[in-house]
This record gives sequence, structure tokens and C-alpha cells, in this order.
Amino acid sequence: MVRRVAVVGAGISGLAATKCCLEEGLEPTCFEQSEDLGGLWRYTEKPEEGRASIYCNVFTNSCKEMMCYPDFPFPDDYPNYIHNKRLYQYIRDYAQHFDLLRHIRFKTLVTKIKKRPDFSATGQWEVVTQRDGKEEAAVFDAVMVCTGHHVYPNLPLASFPGIEKFKGCYLHSREYKEPEKFRGKKVLVVGLGNSGCDIAVELSTVASQVYLSTRSGSWVMSRVWNFGYPWDMLLITRFWTWLDNFLPKSVSDWLFVRSMNQQYKHEDFGLMPLDGASRKEPLLNDDILSRITCGVVLIKPNVKEFRETSVLFQDGTVQDDVDVVIFATGYSHSFPFMEDKSIIESKNNEVALYKYMVPPQLEKPTLAVIGLVQSFGSAIPTADVQCRWAVKVFQAGMQDVMLKEIRRAKATPLFLCPLSQRFRTSKTLQTDYITYMNELTSAIGAKPNVLKLLLTDPQLALKVFFGPCTPYQFRLTGPGKWSGARRAIFTQWDRTLK
Ligand code: FAD
Repeated sequence: MVRRVAVVGAGISGLAATKCCLEEGLEPTCFEQSEDLGGLWRYTEKPEEGRASIYCNVFTNSCKEMMCYPDFPFPDDYPNYIHNKRLYQYIRDYAQHFDLLRHIRFKTLVTKIKKRPDFSATGQWEVVTQRDGKEEAAVFDAVMVCTGHHVYPNLPLASFPGIEKFKGCYLHSREYKEPEKFRGKKVLVVGLGNSGCDIAVELSTVASQVYLSTRSGSWVMSRVWNFGYPWDMLLITRFWTWLDNFLPKSVSDWLFVRSMNQQYKHEDFGLMPLDGASRKEPLLNDDILSRITCGVVLIKPNVKEFRETSVLFQDGTVQDDVDVVIFATGYSHSFPFMEDKSIIESKNNEVALYKYMVPPQLEKPTLAVIGLVQSFGSAIPTADVQCRWAVKVFQAGMQDVMLKEIRRAKATPLFLCPLSQRFRTSKTLQTDYITYMNELTSAIGAKPNVLKLLLTDPQLALKVFFGPCTPYQFRLTGPGKWSGARRAIFTQWDRTLK
């Protein structure tokens, strides 16, 4: 019987985990190393060890209707895309509303998690924590690891010959906070991810020149999509996912590339992804095109070599007098508190986890990693559904949840549900949002049944299938059902327009 659950981290995932445990009558204890909740979304002027660090001007890439906790819509007067300070306030409000604060132990670092000697029978873990220099150990029936994945900088200096000769300064994007100290400088940003792009755009307002180097290009989208609506409200729908899954791959790839190139040709801007139709995490930026067009951001290929004051790129061009290099080269996964490192093994930033959560080799599935998966969808609703799934697995065991999933898969008409997509122990952490959420919610009996809704509530069925797949859909039915979900779906566009 699982009763006591250790939740590691009080970011958006840890709060979802704490709440989901409470909903199911479990006793969560959430350990947070820092003095406050919010994780990545709590901005501080200096990066803190062991916690993600953001720059002052981070806005969300997911709009408020797609990003909220499924039973806690954002206030009406929030804009569609939210500054980190406001998001932090929302996260606090969520914790207060659901009375989660009393379950969190702040300034408490989890230093070790290890299996109990009788693990194969009990599934229990020993969790060692440190607070004010004092160490404490306690036994838990299950563990939810919610420590985020933007903490340990990936700084592959070995891939950049000559960096040791470079006389300017270099830093990882984790250390970047605001542009002023780069005024008048020539700055090279390495890496065309969301952070690299944001930083290049922001610096271009003060630096004398910004170069943005990309190895493989990226699809760059604007937050403001067709007709001025939020991109994710239009593109993340069950209908598009259904179409995408059932069209021949060549046709769906062609449609995808066509829609990405609808506003401008990526090739013309030097942004075209080398892997063509790959649906990796989108890059959202509303300003980069105008910055490139105005010449204040120059797109460059991969760096071949650093010299004392200049940089040689793969295409043979050289940029002289570069003052600063910012490596926006992402992060590595690390779980330093796991005593047995083979339990959550990370090789080349790939982690083998069943449903992107549970280490498949565990004798008892009593440990889940929340928030590691990456998709087009937003992190908050994903974490909420993952936590509900994990808690069910803790309570019922993996077999029961898997059997239910198989029974449901069999009962679902084939044309509605591609079986090939169902059971995965994927190594890469990239997945399709709605397909993944369908897998998890169907396993716990919380997936809305569109065919049944067509008969009982046709208006809702149409909104669920053709409308944006907002988080409320995942709490319409089954365990964790929220009575306000239907109304929230009917009013989602009103809040967007407001
Ligand atoms: P975190 O927010 O990183 O929280 C982890 C917590 O665990 C921290 O508080 C940390 O102190 C604590 N912790 C770590 N180790 C320990 C330990 N050993 N003991 C105790 N406590 C510990 N996602 C979106 O959906 N939409 C967006 O628009 C979006 N924008 C982003 C912009 C940027 C610049 C970045 C970097 C990421 C963005 N993301 C976005 C993804 C982001 O990762 C998630 O939104 C989310 O913050 C992840 O939350 P988390 O709770 O999983 O991890």
C-alpha cells in the first residue's frame, strides 16, 4: 500500500505532484532546496546552484489557455503570453488555493535516494535530506522526481577548437540575465534554441553586432499565428493530431513544412532545419525575422574554430573583433541524488523511461520522473496528467494500469487510435503532445470519449475535437474530474480575446 510519497522539487511539476497525491488520499512531503516555490519561474538576479536560472525578460511560449493547470484557469486579465513574474504569481496562487504550502519543506536539499533493502517486496525508498547542515533520513513508499531539466549547463567546449585561445569572454546562457552590460559589444550567440534566439534578439537592441550561429537550423514560429490568434490555440487540436497520424507520412510532412514556411521561407533566412520535416520542439520568436532583415542579427553556420579575437565558421567566413560568446547550447540531464545511477541513466542526454517517467527495470514501479518529456504542448498540463498517471501506477501497480490501457485500446475503433503509437519505452524525450496525453489519460480513465460526447453533448464534442486541446479537457471526466471543466472550455476564447 502506497501512502507516503516524497516529492523532490517545488516547481510547477512538484506542485502538481503534491496536489495529485492529496487528491488520491496519499501523504506527500515535498522537498525544495531553495527558500521558495516556482522553480525555473522564480527569477533571481544571480543563478542559484541546483536551480534553473532564467533571464529577466522571459515570456512564456505557450499561451495562458494552453498552459494553465487543468482545474485552475489564469485570471481573465492576464495577457495571452505571460512574463515570468506574473507566471510566478499564478504558481503561488495555485499553491495557496489548493493549500499545498504546508506540505512543502523549504531549504531542504534531497541528497540521496536509495532503494530499501527489502525494495523488491515493499517498493520503498530511503530519502536523505539536508537542512541547515543537518542530515535526516526517512522512508517513503514512492518518490516523484520533479527537479526540472534546465539546471546543468551543457557546455561542449571540446567541440569548439581554439576556445582556449579566445581572448574575449564566454559564458553559458544560464548566466545571462539582461542586455545592458553588452552595450556596444560584438556578441556571438551559439545555438538556435528558444533561449539563444531570445538572447540574440534582446542583445541586438544594445550590442554593436550580434551573430547567431546554428548547426542545424530550426523552425521558427511566431506566437501570433493566423488571424492574430495564439499559435498553440490553432495548431494543438485533436483534429490536427488525428489527421497527422493518419495521413501518409510523406503527405503530413509536406503539409507540416508548408505550414511552417507559410509566413516566410526559412531557407531565405538561413534558418531551414537540416532534418527537414522533423517536429522538434518549436522555436517561438516574434522578432527574430525583423532583426535579421535589419541586419542587426546575422545568422551564421556552425563555428569551426575560435581564434584570439575572431571566429571562423564552417562556411569559411571569419568574423573579427568578437568580444563575447554566449553558448546557448542547452542543458544536460542529471540526477545527482540517485545512489544507484543506473536507475535513471542518462547517456548523450537520452533517458530510458517507460512513458517518459518510470525506470523500466524497477521491480516495483514506485519512482516517477515528472516533467522530463518534451513536446509541442505545455509543461504544466503535461505534468498534471503525468502525476495523475504516476499516482495510479503507485497505487495499482503497473500491470493494472497497462491492462486497462490495453483493454481500452482494443475497444477503440482503429481509425481513431493508431496502435503503433501506444506502448513506448522511448529513449529520446521528444513526443507528440496529444498522442501522449491520450495514452496517459486513457490508462487512468480520464480521456474524453469524443464519440460518446457526440451523442450526449454534441456542442462540447465539437469543441473538444476541433477546438484547441486546452488542459481542461484532461479533467472533464474520470478521476480528478473538475466540475468547472466544461464551462472553462466554452469560455476559453472569451478569455483569450479579453
Ligand atoms: P523546475 O521549474 O526547474 O523546478 C525544479 C525544482 O526542483 C526547483 O525549485 C529546484 O530548486 C528543485 N530541486 C532540484 N533539485 C533538488 C533537490 N535535490 N532537492 C530539493 N529540491 C530540488 N514550458 C512551457 O510549457 N511553456 C513555456 O512557455 C516555457 N518557457 C520556457 C522558457 C525557458 C527560458 C525555459 C528554460 C524553459 C521553459 N519552459 C516552458 C519549460 C520549463 O522547463 C517548464 O515550464 C517548467 O518550469 C519545468 O518545471 P519543473 O517543476 O519540472 O522544474
